[in-house]
Amino acid sequence: MNPVILITGASRGIGAATALQAARAGYTVVVNYRANELAAESVVRQIREMGAKAIAVQADVADEAEVLAMFATIDAQLGPLRALVNNAGVVDVASRVDKMTVTRMKRIFDTNVIGSMLCAREAVLRMSTRHGGSGGAIVNLSSVAATLGSPGQYVDYAASKGAIDAFTVGLAREVATESIRVNAVRPGIIDTDIHASGGQPGRAQHLAATIPIQRPGIAGEVASAIVGCSAVVPATPRVHCSMWAVDVRFGGLGHAPAAETAHWPNA
Ligand code: NDP
Repeated sequence: MNPVILITGASRGIGAATALQAARAGYTVVVNYRANELAAESVVRQIREMGAKAIAVQADVADEAEVLAMFATIDAQLGPLRALVNNAGVVDVASRVDKMTVTRMKRIFDTNVIGSMLCAREAVLRMSTRHGGSGGAIVNLSSVAATLGSPGQYVDYAASKGAIDAFTVGLAREVATESIRVNAVRPGIIDTDIHASGGQPGRAQHLAATIPIQRPGIAGEVASAIVGCSAVVPATPRVHCSMWAVDVRFGGLGHAPAAETAHWPNA
């Protein structure tokens, strides 16, 4: 039976590219989405056309009841989860901190941080050998914003990704002896709809001139790093608790551990 992978926010962008690459790597794929059912179903259709298995499951990751219902659907329809990619994430329009509302701050943290932690909790309950599971892998989507802070743009978003980095290190250490590997992938500027949702549709292209290779990254390039870190499928290289940078700013498009990586067990 093919291992089951859940990718949150997989209806488009990096999540959709990851879903397609995971299917090619031999996973049965759960395509989670919040609102865009048509886009999610299109990803599922593309996976089925490859001869792989996929289902779309709607859930707002920031809503605990919806997350619980999503995991119950996966348990019932596909069996034990072996990999989770905490990809769903949001930004808001460019703003200084002194202009940010509490509603905005809570939306960013509820989706990017609490959503990832809720999904990780449910995944650990199913994967951990401590709970009778067979092990697995969790990949969290961080961002280079976690190290740069995004001043004048979205410090709230950057802070949420900093929280993801700390969560990744802590969870990795917590479940290290329970056959679960936890990693984070930290993309640089990737050309997806997220920039339009932050009110800057051309942002990735506008910043191209500041990037050594003169173009933003594309979703598929990040997806390769994510699927590599997921690595439940045998014979794929395995890593445990690293922050993997996929960052075109420094001229490299491959993925390599970030300079400030906290490598288990030295973290
Ligand atoms: P997109 O905006 O292109 O896609 C976001 C996806 O997340 C969509 O599938 C959307 O679903 C889903 N989503 C949003 N909110 C929720 C929620 N509450 N519950 C479930 N799903 C949700 O984003 P990207 O592909 O660009 O980004 C993916 C991840 O990569 C994010 O975590 C982001 O922070 C991170 N990242 C992106 C970078 C970039 O430059 N693009 C750089 C660094 C990190 P729906 O379609 O239904 O709305």
